[in-house]
Amino acid sequence: MTIGENIQTIGERIRAAEQRFGRELGSVQLLAVSKKHPAAAIREAFAVGQHCFGENYVQEMTEKAAELTDTGIEWHFIGPIQSNKTKAIAVTARWVHSVDSLKVAQRLSAQKPASAPAINVCLQVNISDEASKSGVSPSQVPKLARQIALLPGLKLRGLMAIPAPEHEFERQRAVFAQVRLLQQNLNAQGFALDTLSMGMTDDMEAAIAEGATIVRIGTAIFGCRNAINTGKMALTNPL
Ligand SMILES: *Cc1c(COP(=O)(O)O)cnc(C)c1O
Repeated sequence: MTIGENIQTIGERIRAAEQRFGRELGSVQLLAVSKKHPAAAIREAFAVGQHCFGENYVQEMTEKAAELTDTGIEWHFIGPIQSNKTKAIAVTARWVHSVDSLKVAQRLSAQKPASAPAINVCLQVNISDEASKSGVSPSQVPKLARQIALLPGLKLRGLMAIPAPEHEFERQRAVFAQVRLLQQNLNAQGFALDTLSMGMTDDMEAAIAEGATIVRIGTAIFGCRNAINTGKMALTNPL
């Protein structure tokens, strides 16, 4: 299967899930997660109409963005954020899904180039995995959302979650339902959050069932990632 064929297949899976779970057709956007895959693979996906790409590592995103400036790709940053790396993120990414502290949000707000549109921001919620260090605990989300909503240069769009791996569909769904309820509670308090960034290759359908508006798909598009990230991008397509 080529990358183009994989994207077509994922599109069909998304549309089937929209239909099956009563979601409006076209309400779920595909974010292609290209971490650890080379710029050439991204170009292949872009050639079949995929315009949004997610990256986890700042330097990798910056290097690929520099190689692909001719495309006008929309970059989404989805990885853990060290506060000393926010400048590069603010310059390159139109979306940041993984904001989990006021400090990071303040730096993105201050470092966004004046000429650039507001950065779209999601708060990453630590929904199921107590061991994970990323994400805000659900009880802290309303306070942080209120603080971030006041920052210039950022547009708070919604919530992002990476649940602990879970094989059973109904259990996947139960966790995503908690994220959806959190969003509903915020909107009942006056927010107008329109984004739920949730669902990956193995739990995409459950996420769509519970209201995902962006699914972040890597493996099903680009194949397996090399286990060892040498810091250099792979030169060969692992597919
Ligand atoms: C790697 C990654 C993905 C993609 O996961 P797949 O299982 O390869 O689809 C999605 N979201 C985040 C935050 C990731 O780090």
